[in-house]
Amino acid sequence: MTTSSEILVINCGSSSLKFALLPKGSSEPLLSGLAECLGLADSRIIFKTAEGKKTESLNGGSHAEAMEALTRFMGEHEWLDSVVAIGHRIVHGGERFQASALITDEVLAGIEECCALAPLHNPGHLVGIRAAQKAFPKLPQVVVFDTAFHQTMPKPAYMYAVPQRFYKEYGVRRYGMHGTSHRFIAGETVAELKLDPANHGILIAHLGNGASASAVKNGKCMDTTMGMTPLEGLIMGTRSGDIDPAAVTFIARKEGLDLDGIDNLLNKQSGLLGISGVSSDCRALEEAAAEGNVDAQLALDMFAHRLARLLGGLATSLDRIDALVFTGGIGENSSLLREKTLNHMKVLGFAVDAAANERAVRGNTGVISQPGSTTALVMATNEEWMIAKDTADLAGI
Ligand code: ADP
Repeated sequence: MTTSSEILVINCGSSSLKFALLPKGSSEPLLSGLAECLGLADSRIIFKTAEGKKTESLNGGSHAEAMEALTRFMGEHEWLDSVVAIGHRIVHGGERFQASALITDEVLAGIEECCALAPLHNPGHLVGIRAAQKAFPKLPQVVVFDTAFHQTMPKPAYMYAVPQRFYKEYGVRRYGMHGTSHRFIAGETVAELKLDPANHGILIAHLGNGASASAVKNGKCMDTTMGMTPLEGLIMGTRSGDIDPAAVTFIARKEGLDLDGIDNLLNKQSGLLGISGVSSDCRALEEAAAEGNVDAQLALDMFAHRLARLLGGLATSLDRIDALVFTGGIGENSSLLREKTLNHMKVLGFAVDAAANERAVRGNTGVISQPGSTTALVMATNEEWMIAKDTADLAGI
């Protein structure tokens, strides 16, 4: 039994629904979990609480059934009545959404309009919102956009050098992703290092299966590595990141690939997986590399080289670098990739403290640079907390 106010955070994809129930102001969820394979015969939902993990079959059910199972589970734990608002993660808010918003019919129409820019994500978010509205008709619901934090990028940073009519007619430009994480890390870094909120420069490397880096000046994003879609920029688990577009047309002609074939190649078969032929997973690659697999070693070296190269480029949007922060599953855990990256960045004054880098443990903020060098930090991101905070603020809770 609880008497506090809880925020339910929902991250809904086309076939999955992730959730976290956070007491207001807390970063420790009472409940978290995931419904997956929605709409398929083996759809299931996994609940994680302090008591442990529980998996239930959804018997082929989809988002509505997942939401029903979630509300039933919350009811059994007497959490249902203390939920005061719901926050939804939305991948793409286009140019329309510069910040989080309370859901209204107009906001829903705006998210619908952005479906063309994120056809694999936004339609799933809308399904999740409708299911949540049905399950919690009386509660305020808020949307938090992955793109919103990057809306402060200046025009020269977000335009592509193609005829401008593509921007004007279809919205073809760089938007950036992972904005909720970049915003969280920027705010925490200012607090942690006691920087002046109105005068600072921070580089952020959010490195998970998807990865992006950004340059934040005085609280505002000035540039980021992801583009119109999450394919641009860094090398990722299965995504190529930057590649000469002419190399893509060359490969397509050689292999007879159509547009879907190219999409699949660059999004699903490239990146760490494509280079190594071993895995998209950093842990598996580190193991293979330690055993002498040269392709895994190359994949890790390329990851670090690309990251250092793009961080160097991002730095040109700042007046100075107060800190470089590593976050995300790889950023928080891979001392190897942090060290490789920092060793590439001596020109910007970075010098890794090998012992501090090895000591940095997931969940704890830690400086990993030598005294007197440019500061590098490891910090845990918390997108759910950020979504819950925006939700509480906008819902006036
Ligand atoms: P997502 O982008 O899906 O949220 P995460 O942020 O969880 O992904 O990051 C997943 C990545 O983090 C994987 O490549 C995984 O191998 C890597 N990772 C997790 N733990 C470790 C570890 N101890 N050492 C190296 N890499 C790790």
